[in-house]
Amino acid sequence: MKRKLIAGALLALLAVLALSLASAAGLVVETEPGLFRVRFDLPEERFAVVNFSTAAESGWFTLYSEDGHFEGESALLCSYDPCRLTVRVERVDRRGLEQVRVDSPGTPLPAGEPLPFVNGRRSVRDLVLEPVDGGFSYHFTAQGHGSVKLQYRTARETGAVLLYPDENYVYSGTLLLPHTYNATNVYVTLRSGRGNGTIATGQTTRGYTLTAKETEPAPGGRLNGVIVCIDPGHQNAPGGEREPLGPGMEGYGTVAGGMAQGVVTRRKESIVMLELGFVIRDELLRQGATVVMTREIEERRYSNLERDAVANDAGAHVMLRLHGDNNKSANNRGFSFYYPVHSAYAQAVADTDTYRGYGQLMLDALAARCSYGPGIKTHLDGTDRFVGNNWAMMPCFLVEMGFMSNKYDDVLLSTPEYQQWLAEGIADGVYALAVARGVIDGEE
Ligand SMILES: [Zn+2]
Repeated sequence: MKRKLIAGALLALLAVLALSLASAAGLVVETEPGLFRVRFDLPEERFAVVNFSTAAESGWFTLYSEDGHFEGESALLCSYDPCRLTVRVERVDRRGLEQVRVDSPGTPLPAGEPLPFVNGRRSVRDLVLEPVDGGFSYHFTAQGHGSVKLQYRTARETGAVLLYPDENYVYSGTLLLPHTYNATNVYVTLRSGRGNGTIATGQTTRGYTLTAKETEPAPGGRLNGVIVCIDPGHQNAPGGEREPLGPGMEGYGTVAGGMAQGVVTRRKESIVMLELGFVIRDELLRQGATVVMTREIEERRYSNLERDAVANDAGAHVMLRLHGDNNKSANNRGFSFYYPVHSAYAQAVADTDTYRGYGQLMLDALAARCSYGPGIKTHLDGTDRFVGNNWAMMPCFLVEMGFMSNKYDDVLLSTPEYQQWLAEGIADGVYALAVARGVIDGEE
């Protein structure tokens, strides 16, 4: 009797488990030569991760959906014909949901007769890996190697492709990495096409062209007349130089050198914030604001004083200093706003309570648009320790847009649709602040 009860309970439990698995996604995978398509449903989710693997490559990409129905496709660039494809759907926090295996037609093998292997020098000479838009280019000479297997690895995809040389054993070409975010590290290993021996290793980044799309403030927008300074934090250059802490203050601060790096994406804070800066700039222009940016490139060092001079000279009504947070606790998620307190410039802007109130407006607007997924916390604090806040002659906030040390925030910060949410949240905050400051009239 007791055994029967346990068996019954077990069956019921299994039924519940089977039901929850079946209702998780309803993942459908279809293949064509060189690509596959997926569709599935996650009614509670707006973002989902699709993982895929074949013998030759594996990777993942993020999909966005407004209604919980997801559709997407991916090229299989390095998978030879035929290949077995495994697809797994996960939530953005990387919890697995459902997995499907299908046989793909794959991509045909490259045509042409390979050069023979010959005895002689077997070393790789003149290996050059360079970023190009959407991927990287390779160029090297491997005397005596009739073929070379190039293996690549990034935070988002890995794969291997067999290469063939020209008649002088020169290998040259381009490899696209469609799932790897811009400016993510790419690790390359060259192996002998005959065996598995490593003959060279190298490192580059996935290339990109980064520009704002909008150029002029839209006429008739609700932010007409508002001037915003966007300051994407850091740069791809060392810092460390001392700067005076602030007007009317004693002591020094330093130009930021170290920065956060995505725990999953391996993207540097400087590039993520520059990319986000352009998305925010586009949204502000679309809403009618005038926008100045402290930097539009990666490869130059800007001091905090230089950055504040851009905002001060433009007569900006608000300055937003974009950063990505970093914490030993990988669970920390959310936004932080920091405003200056004791600098003479800050005190000329408003008394501390009023200044804090401006920060609260900005924070609430951002959190209202972007509190997605579990574990979000918000934080608002006054501090004297940021030189870049202290020298600004307008309301100025250092904004931590999310934790790059948290896998969930890290992935979202590099996902275009979430970047747009952030931009709209920032624009809402700028609007609320501009109305509170009397720069523009609020809507009735
Ligand atoms: Zn930072």
